[in-house]
Amino acid sequence: MAFYSKRSKVYHTDARCPVGKAVKKKNRIPGKGGRKMCNFCKTMGKAKPVKRAKKAKKAKRAKKRRRW
Ligand SMILES: [Zn+2]
Repeated sequence: MAFYSKRSKVYHTDARCPVGKAVKKKNRIPGKGGRKMCNFCKTMGKAKPVKRAKKAKKAKRAKKRRRW
């Protein structure tokens, strides 16, 4: 869900966005409000293979443990 703050010039779409989190719920307005997309939300939208990266790290750790 996209939302924005009256004071902000950008809108947010990602729940993990720290900038969006900083906007108090009572100040959140649903929609884009004709604003630009927040840079952080843009980045989060592009960085989809986060889960894969975490799995890869765990696999490496497991291999190391087996060697020990
Ligand atoms: Zn954002």
